[in-house]
Amino acid sequence: MSVVESRSPQNPAEVVVRAEAAGAAGVAAAVERAREAQAAWAGANAAERAAGLSAAADAVAGAAAELADLVVREVGKPIAEAKGEVARSVAILRYYAQQVFDPVGAVHEPSGSGLAYTRKRPHGVAGLITPWNFPLAIPLWKAAPALAFGNAVVLKPAPQATATALRLAELLGLPDGLFHVVPGDAEEGGALVDAADVVSFTGSASVGRKVSVAAAGRGVAVQAEMGGQNAAIVLADANLEAAAAQIAAAAFGYAGQKCTATKRVITVGNAAEVREAIVAAVAKLGVGDPADPGTAVGPLIEESARDRVVSAAAGARVLTGGEALGRDGWFAAPTLVDNAPGDHLLACEEVFGPICLVQDASSVDEAVALANGVRYGLVSAVYTSDLDHALDVSARLDTGLVKVNSPTSGVDFYLPFGGVKESSHGPREQGKAAQDFYTTTHTVSLAP
Ligand code: NAP
Repeated sequence: MSVVESRSPQNPAEVVVRAEAAGAAGVAAAVERAREAQAAWAGANAAERAAGLSAAADAVAGAAAELADLVVREVGKPIAEAKGEVARSVAILRYYAQQVFDPVGAVHEPSGSGLAYTRKRPHGVAGLITPWNFPLAIPLWKAAPALAFGNAVVLKPAPQATATALRLAELLGLPDGLFHVVPGDAEEGGALVDAADVVSFTGSASVGRKVSVAAAGRGVAVQAEMGGQNAAIVLADANLEAAAAQIAAAAFGYAGQKCTATKRVITVGNAAEVREAIVAAVAKLGVGDPADPGTAVGPLIEESARDRVVSAAAGARVLTGGEALGRDGWFAAPTLVDNAPGDHLLACEEVFGPICLVQDASSVDEAVALANGVRYGLVSAVYTSDLDHALDVSARLDTGLVKVNSPTSGVDFYLPFGGVKESSHGPREQGKAAQDFYTTTHTVSLAP
């Protein structure tokens, strides 16, 4: 029997859960059981499905404190952010509970005297593969629309977030088989891609590419949300203090372990002032125990992630940080690196941790070219007090999302979410876009 274990990043001696891995056969069995549950669920009327999702939202809300503590313990997320994630999870469930009542098709002009109409129908079983960094919100922003529009869900969470996923499944209280968690690693993830009727993945670009190819090869709908190398451009007319505070929070909050974390800051004719302001803002961030309400920067998920941050800073000119912190757990200091060359890891790759590079541009055009000059395209930010600049730069940034005078991190659950280039593959997540992804369109032409 293979075992999945998660340990607390701030206290690696603490085993949070030890669970039996599902194995490929367990995944196949879960998909079969989900198929049976789905038939009944898709046959339920809209009010019944809405009631199921609303009850799930109530259950998650009722266990908010317990869930937030579990997220802190299992993935080291600072408690303030963990509470925010639980609240967002409840909001996601309530939002899709209401979307159940949205129109599910359209009536068209017939070619003769009859009727032509479309209806949205569920795919069947949605296979969801998720990372550890948003252990509630990411599974739910996939599962809630999948369920709302009549699918069943089999979730393969990241091993580091197994306890949170298992507890979530209990709390949701859905009919047996309708939302099922299969603990495991790449073996279970691969088996799920091979068996599900629609696949939604969030995680790294390298795995996302494999998942997309495998699912597309089977002819099932697939979406993959992957990494980012997100730039924040600070124009000379920006409110520097506000920009610096937001950049520090977006680069180093939750130890930079968000796909939307700011990974590069690009100055435009204000190099010294921007550096000074960000270093001052970083000094105000609480670093340490994620259970402490004052903490913004907790541990990294595991030792290798901490070591990757430290080695990325080694040899570079460091403005602040650059070292591991001498305390239990996988902590690294928030690290700001100065002008590394264009082929440096920090200039082109996603280092998933509290590390951010400052680059200087001599013009707005050069800043936009620098921001766009990476293989990722998830989110970018521009700081300016001039509306023309804001509109001009936003239009030229090659990312799925652009934030003006707001941090790259922080995504509204009701807005379409996703990137371009190697950050995303397939349709957008969240918002109304989810109905299209989790359904197929059925066209009926009816002659009298
Ligand atoms: P990851 O290593 O790619 O893993 C993601 C999930 O895929 C895990 O459940 C993983 O299980 C599973 N998996 C690994 N290999 C697989 C395979 N061959 N077939 C099917 N499933 C497989 O990512 P992570 O380290 O958990 O998360 C960090 C990454 O996620 C970062 O790159 C971050 O930017 C990205 N992310 C993106 C978004 C977004 O919305 N764009 C949001 C959050 C995070 P195992 O871990 O057991 O291998």
